[in-house]
Amino acid sequence: MQGRFEKRGEVGIIWVNNPPVNAISVGVRSAIIDGVSKLSQDPEIKVGVLACEGRTFMAGADITEFGKPSLSPSLHDAINAVENAPKPIVAAIHGTALGGGLEVALGCHYRVAIASAKVGLPEVKLGILPGAGGTQRLPRLIGVEPALSIIVSGDPVPAPQAAKAGLIDKIVDGDLLEGAVAYAKELGANHAPLREVRHIDIDASALPADFFAETRRRVAKEKKNLFSPQRIVDALEAAVTLPFDQGMARERELFLQCQTNSQARALQHVFFAERKTAIVPNLDKNSPKREIKSVAVIGAGTMGGGITMNFLNVGIPVTLLETKQEFLDHGIGVIRKNYENTASKGKLTLEQVEQRMALLTPTLCYDDIKDASLIIEAVFETMAIKKEVFDKLDKVAKPGAILASNTSYLSIDEIAQATSRPGDVLGMHFFSPANVMKLLEIVRGEKTSQEVLATIVDLAKRINKVGVVCGNRDGFIGNRMLGAYSYQAMLMVLEGAMPEQVDAALRNFGMPMGVLQMSDLAGLDIGYKSRKSRDPSSYDGRASRSSDLLVEMGRMGQKTYAGFYDYVPGDRTPKPSPIVQELIEKVSAECGIRRRAFTDEEIIERCFLSLMNAGCDVLRERVAYRASDIDIVYLYGYGFPAYRGGPMFWAENEVGLETALEKLKKYSAQTGGKWLQVSPLLERLVAEGKGFASLGS
Ligand code: NAD
Repeated sequence: MQGRFEKRGEVGIIWVNNPPVNAISVGVRSAIIDGVSKLSQDPEIKVGVLACEGRTFMAGADITEFGKPSLSPSLHDAINAVENAPKPIVAAIHGTALGGGLEVALGCHYRVAIASAKVGLPEVKLGILPGAGGTQRLPRLIGVEPALSIIVSGDPVPAPQAAKAGLIDKIVDGDLLEGAVAYAKELGANHAPLREVRHIDIDASALPADFFAETRRRVAKEKKNLFSPQRIVDALEAAVTLPFDQGMARERELFLQCQTNSQARALQHVFFAERKTAIVPNLDKNSPKREIKSVAVIGAGTMGGGITMNFLNVGIPVTLLETKQEFLDHGIGVIRKNYENTASKGKLTLEQVEQRMALLTPTLCYDDIKDASLIIEAVFETMAIKKEVFDKLDKVAKPGAILASNTSYLSIDEIAQATSRPGDVLGMHFFSPANVMKLLEIVRGEKTSQEVLATIVDLAKRINKVGVVCGNRDGFIGNRMLGAYSYQAMLMVLEGAMPEQVDAALRNFGMPMGVLQMSDLAGLDIGYKSRKSRDPSSYDGRASRSSDLLVEMGRMGQKTYAGFYDYVPGDRTPKPSPIVQELIEKVSAECGIRRRAFTDEEIIERCFLSLMNAGCDVLRERVAYRASDIDIVYLYGYGFPAYRGGPMFWAENEVGLETALEKLKKYSAQTGGKWLQVSPLLERLVAEGKGFASLGS
C-alpha cells in the first residue's frame, strides 16, 4: 500500500504516499480504500481528510500501468469508496491535482487547497477524456459551461480561480494540513451534510436550447480535426440529460471510443516522445553543468530578436550585438513591439514589458559581451561571416563561455574550428518565430564537451523549449528532411498540380500551412540563392525552375506581396495567381511534361512518405538518435499535427512500413529514381519485419 491512515482525535487522515508525484497506482488506490474503511469503522472519528505526502497532491494516473490489464482496485472503486463514506471527507490539495487526481478530489465531499495549487483534467491532451467520473461530477459541481471549458482545454486552473468557480471550497493560508483538519473539524461541529457530488442536480434551465449543437460547432473550430473534444461535449450532454449512473456508463462508452481511436495512440506517443528527448545517448546524466547567468546574442535580425526574447522571458539578461546602430535600433524596436502586442492582448502587464526590456543591453562593441556565460550567433547564413564572428568570440569570450550558432545548414565542426575551444561550441538551432516555436535542435559537434551539451539540454527546458539533440550534418534533422518534402511538392506542381491544390491537401491533412505557402513566407530568394551556390548536378533543377523564374520576376514571396501566390498588404492569405499558373504550365511544357491530374491522396503520400524516407536516412546516419525525436522535430518545428503523431509514427502506424516501402518504390520509379531513393534502413526494417522501436535508444 502506498499510503497510511492516521487518527488525530475526531479526524481521520488518509495519507497517500507514492513519490515523486503520487501517481494513482494500485497501491495508492488500496491505501485510499483502506483509509476509508478505517475511518468508517472508528466511532470516535467524525470527519476525514485525504492528503498527500511530498510535493504534490495526486498528479494523475500511473503511466506505468498504461496499456496493461487493469489492476484491482480500480480508480472507480477508490472514488466510490470515498464518495460513499458515511462521514464527510475533505481533499487537501497542494501542488497539482490533475486527471485522476482531481477525479478523486471530486469524489470527496469537500475540497480545500493552498493558493499555489492547480487543478485540471488534461486527458484531452492525450486524445481521451476523464474516465473516472470527471465529465459527470465537474458539471454538477461548477456548472456545464465552466466544466466544458476546463475539460476541453485540458489546461490546469490555479486554485484561487477554481475556488471562484466553486470547485474548491476554501483556500488555506499557511499549513495545508492544519487548515484542512480545522476545516474538517468545523464541518463536524456544524454537522455538515455529506456533499456527494453525484447527487447535485444540474440546473440546465439557463442553457439555450441549441447549446450542445452550438458548442460542437465551436469546439470543432477551436480543436480542429480532433476526436476527443467532441466526445467530451457528448459526455457533458449526458451529464445534463441522464441520471448519474447512466451518465457514468455513457462516459465509459465515450472514453473507450477515444481510447481506441488512432488519435489517442498518436497523442500518447507524442507525450512519451517528448519526455524521451531528454535522454541523450552518450551523455552522462550526472555530467556537471555550467551556470548560465547572462547571454549575448550576435545579430538582431529575425532570429536574433526572437532568440533574445526567450531569455528575457525567464529573467536572464541579454546583450544584443549588431554591426550598425540602425540595425540594432530596428531589432530592439521589433522586440518591444512584440511585447507590447502581447500586453495589448492582456497576456503581459506593461510593467512586465518594462521589466523584460530592462534586462536587454544593446551594443555595437564585442568588448561588452566578454562576461556572457552563453553567446548565440544569429548572423547571415554564410560560412565566411560565421567564421569571422567566431574568431572574434574566441578572442573576447571569458573562459568557460559556451559559444553557439543558430545556423540552419552550416557545419558546426567547421565553425568550431575558427576557435581555439571547439569543446565549448555547439549548434542551437531555433525555429522561426524563435520566441514562439517550441523546438530547439541542439547540434552536437564532434568536439562538443559533455558539460556544454548537458548545460544546453538543461537550459532548453529553462526557456520552455523542447530540445532535441542531433548530429552535425547538412540541415541537421528538420531542414535536411524538409528538402525531400518540398521537392515532392514542387515536382507535383511541375507534373500537373497547382500550388493551391498541393497546399490545400497538406492543410486538410492537418498542416498549419502548405509547403509552397511556407516558401512564400520564408522568401523564395533564400532557396534561389542557395541553389546558385550549389553544384547544379546536386539537385533536380526541373522542380525548382518555376521558383527560380518567380524570383527573377521579382516575386520573392510575402515580402513582395507576390510569390507562388498573390498577397495584399496586411493580409497573409495566399490568393492563386493567373500569372503563376501560366508560368508553371510553360515550365512543364519546356520540360516536355504532359500535365496530369493529382488526387489529394497522392499528394499526401508523396510528400509525407518522402519525408519519412528522408527521416530513415537521418536515423541511419545517427543524425537523429530515434524516430520519435524526428516526430518531435516535425511537431514542434513545422506544425505536423500532433494527432497524427509525427511523420515517422504516421508512416509506421497509419500507412504501415511495408505499404510505405511499396509506395515509395512506385513513386521513385515513376519520378525517375534519382531524386527519390528508398532509404536502405526502410528496406532493412521491412525485410526483417521490424519497426522503428527496434532501433533502440
Ligand atoms: P537576418 O538577415 O534577419 O538577420 C541577420 C542579422 O545579423 C542582421 O541584422 C545583420 O545586420 C546581422 N549581422 C550580420 N553580420 C553580423 C556581424 N558580423 N556581427 C553582428 N551582426 C551581424 O537573418 P535571420 O533570418 O535572423 O537568420 C540568422 C541566422 O539564423 C542564419 O544563420 C539563418 O540560417 C538562421 N536561421 C534562420 C531561420 C529563419 O527562418 N529566418 C530559422 C532558423 C535559423
